[in-house]
Amino acid sequence: PFDVLIVGGGPAGAAAAVYAARKGIRTGVASERFGGQVLDTMGIENFISIKETEGPKFAHALEEHVRDYEVDIMNLQRAKALVPGSDLIEVKLESGASLKSKSVIISTGARWRNINVPGEHEFKNKGVAYCPHCDGPLFKGKRVAVIGGGNSGVEAAIDLAGIVGHVTLIEFDTQLRADAVLQRKLRSLKNVDVFTNAQTTEITGDQKVNGLVYKDRATGELKKVELEGVFIQIGLVPNTDWLKGTVELSKHGEIIVDARGQTSVPGVFAAGDATTVPFKQIIIAAGDGAKAALGAFDHLIRTSAP
Ligand code: FAD
Repeated sequence: PFDVLIVGGGPAGAAAAVYAARKGIRTGVASERFGGQVLDTMGIENFISIKETEGPKFAHALEEHVRDYEVDIMNLQRAKALVPGSDLIEVKLESGASLKSKSVIISTGARWRNINVPGEHEFKNKGVAYCPHCDGPLFKGKRVAVIGGGNSGVEAAIDLAGIVGHVTLIEFDTQLRADAVLQRKLRSLKNVDVFTNAQTTEITGDQKVNGLVYKDRATGELKKVELEGVFIQIGLVPNTDWLKGTVELSKHGEIIVDARGQTSVPGVFAAGDATTVPFKQIIIAAGDGAKAALGAFDHLIRTSAP
């Protein structure tokens, strides 16, 4: 069995693996896609000390760093169940195999919810973006739309309004769903237009995004907005379905962790976008992974026989 088994090989899982392996304990990482969301990222400019890099390059560097240590890397493995036990915790894989470990770190990340309209997939990273903290500065002075009028959409619109030239916020419902204080702030901004009861039907462009089409749901009329960027903010979904019923999750499906990354199940830790940690970013996930590995190590030295 492993001392520490990490499920998920994004920035959180990679950092956890390096920290665990450096303690000289038996460490494994099982993941579907080593690198995680970073593989789908173009430019990364906010991982402090690396001024600028590309997602696939960063993902490769994560794996290289882990491979520098004696870590059992099991790629293309999808976990389907966690079975807590008094001594060993079991992780069952889709492949039919099962892994056992004294402690487990879950770092299965999250995914942005897509709106599934024509142009979204085609123009990903070519004007279609999901993360205002990451990509906002790329649209300095330009025109963008934010799709989604919940807290994350309205926060994104307020944030972007300070960087870009103009923001159009588009909400499907007849009213915004964000907190009143955010809505007040939004409405006070001069370079923001808000359209409610509006259904985005297409993101247009040639090489890059050049506009967006929405349907006014009251009249059925199609309207076009010219712009250079579209931020989709209709939810970040944690990859935690496989944990339902075993590990305590928030109402958004995020794994509830304490300050050491400990979950509701003894010996099971979690890190990164899959958890309740506020702000989903690479540097935060990596720091979280380190923290969970140290938390797991601390747990092991208290509970395992020498
Ligand atoms: P993830 O990166 O999501 O990794 C999860 C890992 O778990 C993957 O290996 C996945 O294959 C695996 N996994 C999932 N489910 C299972 C399962 N059941 N069994 C086994 N393995 C599983 N952040 C920044 O800081 N700067 C940026 O510029 C930036 N740009 C971004 C651009 C895009 C397009 C996207 C999508 C995100 C961006 N982010 C950026 C956010 C950043 O990528 C995430 O915050 C970060 O990757 C989270 O790391 P993580 O390790 O928690 O999860």
